[in-house]
Amino acid sequence: AQIMSRGLPKQKPIEGVKQVIVVASGKGGVGKSTTAVNLALALAANDSSKAVGLLDVDVYGPSIPKMMNLKGNPELSQSNLMRPLLNYGIACMSMGFLVEETAPVVWRGLMVMSAIEKLLRQVDWGQLDYLVVDMPPGTGDVQISVSQNIPISGAVIVSTPQDIALMDARKGAEMFRKVHVPVLGLVQNMSVFQCPKCKHRTHIFGADGARRLARTLDLDVLGDIPLHLNIRETSDTGQPIVFSQPESDEAKAYLRIAAEV
Ligand code: ADP
Repeated sequence: AQIMSRGLPKQKPIEGVKQVIVVASGKGGVGKSTTAVNLALALAANDSSKAVGLLDVDVYGPSIPKMMNLKGNPELSQSNLMRPLLNYGIACMSMGFLVEETAPVVWRGLMVMSAIEKLLRQVDWGQLDYLVVDMPPGTGDVQISVSQNIPISGAVIVSTPQDIALMDARKGAEMFRKVHVPVLGLVQNMSVFQCPKCKHRTHIFGADGARRLARTLDLDVLGDIPLHLNIRETSDTGQPIVFSQPESDEAKAYLRIAAEV
């Protein structure tokens, strides 16, 4: 599949970038951006010789600026390319850097596509071993256009164990197969909640749904991420858990997933 995807006529690699890994989800709010951010940090943490970038193409709801504690306008290089902003050792680019945080994103159709084109083609990444791409949720034009424009090494699909999220995750997996992007596997997010007081474990969104889906689609489960207050808090305060609490069990879950990718 990888060879076919590289061979599609319209695809052109992003200059300086060796491997592109997209993080996708069928529906919103399942933890896709949180996974993308921590996966990028974990890829860099697992091998300090690797240069990692993070590209947020979730044009309608960019969350990377907040999660990576970054804001500002990218500078232009001599060749008029945008320079990514850097934090925690990760080079980042997001629609959120290009529009005011409070400005409603009212673009449709062509406007969004030209924004995507900018984010894909007008960024000076330097040399990267991995570029992790935070996709918008669902299987719309943006996802298809990204998949057709650049060679993608693989897609990671994030889902909760809940049926409704899984149904959409299945559509995501099928879309990537259609455009010849190899699906690396599923991440089952919010798989279990452990009460911090009594240690009782509860499967709030159901147990093992992603595992069942993975079996029917013949995909791997790359790992399980628990539902944990520290993940939510570190994400919302721009101190992602893999960076701020690398020794925690939650961070280790992301580090294990990065080792599978
Ligand atoms: P998506 O990108 O799929 O819309 P986000 O990554 O923005 O989802 O996550 C939605 C919300 O859920 C965020 O507030 C995030 O901090 C929180 N969240 C994501 N994963 C977890 C988790 N495993 N445990 C606790 N909170 C989480």
